[in-house]
Amino acid sequence: MKKKRISILGSTGSIGVNTLKVVKHLKDQFEVINLSCNQNIDLLIDQIKTFQPKAVSVLNSKSYYKLKNKLKNSNIEILKGKEGLLEISSRNNIDLLMNGLVGAAGMKPTLNAINQGIDVALSNKESLVMAGSIIKKAMKKSGANLFPVDSEHSAIWQCLIGEDTRDIRRLILTGSGGPFRTRALQTFNDISLKEALNHPNWDMGRKISIDSATMMNKGFELIEAYWLFDLPLDKIDIVVHPQSIIHSMVEFKDSSIKAQLGVPDMKVPIQYALTYPRHVEAPWERLNFFDCKDLSFQKPDYERFPCISLALESLDRLGTSGTALNISNDYTVSRFLNNEIKFTDIAKINKLAMRNHAWIKEPNLEDISRLETWVKDYVYSF
Ligand code: MG
Repeated sequence: MKKKRISILGSTGSIGVNTLKVVKHLKDQFEVINLSCNQNIDLLIDQIKTFQPKAVSVLNSKSYYKLKNKLKNSNIEILKGKEGLLEISSRNNIDLLMNGLVGAAGMKPTLNAINQGIDVALSNKESLVMAGSIIKKAMKKSGANLFPVDSEHSAIWQCLIGEDTRDIRRLILTGSGGPFRTRALQTFNDISLKEALNHPNWDMGRKISIDSATMMNKGFELIEAYWLFDLPLDKIDIVVHPQSIIHSMVEFKDSSIKAQLGVPDMKVPIQYALTYPRHVEAPWERLNFFDCKDLSFQKPDYERFPCISLALESLDRLGTSGTALNISNDYTVSRFLNNEIKFTDIAKINKLAMRNHAWIKEPNLEDISRLETWVKDYVYSF
């Protein structure tokens, strides 16, 4: 059998590491062609030894020179910086690109691969939040596909297989509610970084952990679902489900509901995006129903988590609203991670950035670049 050739962007992050675990256990089916990381070159070197990629790209320039020096006797191609990442994501010597990048930086690599006709396993939801309409147009033109890696969207994708989209009544995105689901609202101003990083069910990178704590992540997932499944906003609902066992659901017109469930482990949706349409054997932990405590469901709390409302507002306005919201959130989260702003400032500043930017109905990539500069300055003006 011919091996599937893949590239992994963000290979030293949480999604990248889990993708390589999947690839390792399915090593007779996959060949790693390119890897990219930000700065963790010690881990990257381990990955290079194990998976023997043809090329790697390192974003941080200090780390790039360190790696160059360490691998000077090897014939691996090493690329540098943003240009390196864009170059690697534009190559068509692969069958599938895994985009495990974090934040707005993931958008152009997604688009590059799609433009080359390469299918993308998409963990970087920000690609669609930033530039959903541009990416959809590019997909139509090249015929490339997006395979969702986000656990909720993977669940919906799996529930929809074999179904007629005319029969869908609504998509039901489940969310754990994050670490502050039951915390008293009047204490939200005192939320510390450590508390916000401590997700109850999922072990994830720092940025997405904060997005889960503000529930901006769930808001972005609404936007992601909107673009992935081509359904109007009134057909996508959020249900809080603290145990994260049901990963999402689809309700049909005859009142039948399909759910996809399992232990919360990102390797499962990652593997499915890699092996689609097969559900092949995997060694991960399995759901034991008799260990499951009660499964419970609640309405999302928009007062506690105003970031969900911001996502709804951005879908109502479309154009650059999601773009501005996404860019702003990258910087507000970064400032919160650096202890420069309070937890509650994240939503406040995101809202102002989304409402006060110069809105454009059908942005192109240059408009988005200009907006990035404006939003960054705006967020740092607080
Ligand atoms: Mg998710």
